[in-house]
Amino acid sequence: MLVIYTGGTIGMLRNAETGALEPFDFDHLYRHLPVLESLRCRIDNYSFSPLIDSSDMNPDFWVSLAEVIEESYEKYDGFVVLHGTDTMAYTASVLSFMLENLNKPVILTGSQLPMGMIRSDGRENFITAVEIASAYEDDTPVVPEVAICFENKLLRGNRTTKFNAENFDAFFSGNYPPLAEIGIHIRFNRSFILKPNFRKLKVHKKLETGVMILKLFPGIQPSMVEAMFAIPGLRGIIMETFGSGNAPTHHSFLDALAKAIAKGILVYNVTQCKSGAVEQGLYQTSLRLGQIGVVSGGDITTEAALAKMMFLLGEGYSGEALKVQLTRPLRGEMSQEI
Ligand code: ASP
Repeated sequence: MLVIYTGGTIGMLRNAETGALEPFDFDHLYRHLPVLESLRCRIDNYSFSPLIDSSDMNPDFWVSLAEVIEESYEKYDGFVVLHGTDTMAYTASVLSFMLENLNKPVILTGSQLPMGMIRSDGRENFITAVEIASAYEDDTPVVPEVAICFENKLLRGNRTTKFNAENFDAFFSGNYPPLAEIGIHIRFNRSFILKPNFRKLKVHKKLETGVMILKLFPGIQPSMVEAMFAIPGLRGIIMETFGSGNAPTHHSFLDALAKAIAKGILVYNVTQCKSGAVEQGLYQTSLRLGQIGVVSGGDITTEAALAKMMFLLGEGYSGEALKVQLTRPLRGEMSQEI
């Protein structure tokens, strides 16, 4: 196994002067986990420097993380990524797109309480993640995909959202069942896990950063939307709409959207709901969106939509080809083609 440490609460210590939690080194983390030595696998470590709180996560870091996996891919059977919980769902989503033909487990985990605290959830999460990343049958990994292991579930990475800032059960996958349930046994739901394709890993390292998220709310002003669309270098917007993909029908709002789309800015429709899908045309309030060229994201999460757009635009997709890619599942991030 290769354990990659990026930072996050799991390894943090409290700064004596400010009282705030700060990332700390690997040795500190391991001191609390002597049990790892009794697992039947060899564990090597890679630590980023500096370690970060995941609120500082960014596309350059994602590229470095993908490179660490690429460079050590042949040498290890699986990877565990220790990561802060705040943006873990974004990292899991983007890695799923960057790592094409992934045939080994990449399991992200972290914790809500630092490892040094008596009630920390970090120990269980870390040990279970290592067990899952090292689970092989007939020389084939059981989970050859990017997943998040947290509390009592293993979830497909690009289907997750952090939904609780306090509970140990912090991640949610509203549109896809758990890949495994973790109790006394680790019960894999094999029919939901991606199958290996045994092709050569291809790592995509270009991510477009000219994308933004626009969350709609009652009272949003067309001038606000126009100001956003006027941002230089903007290539795409993830528009978080109401319910099954609905938006205000006021003509000045729709005109602002239509103008931006005509200028070449991509607008990708995802729902603000944590479960369910966008269905443009189900209501009159979403019918016009489809007509002016807004692209439906179906049941994709906001995190996966952002990652997918950064990835596809970075790969140079545009026009119809881009729309086709956005409306079909590439790494199991959507339930069906739209
Ligand atoms: N702020 C921390 C982080 O995301 C929270 C955590 O790890 O749970 O890095």
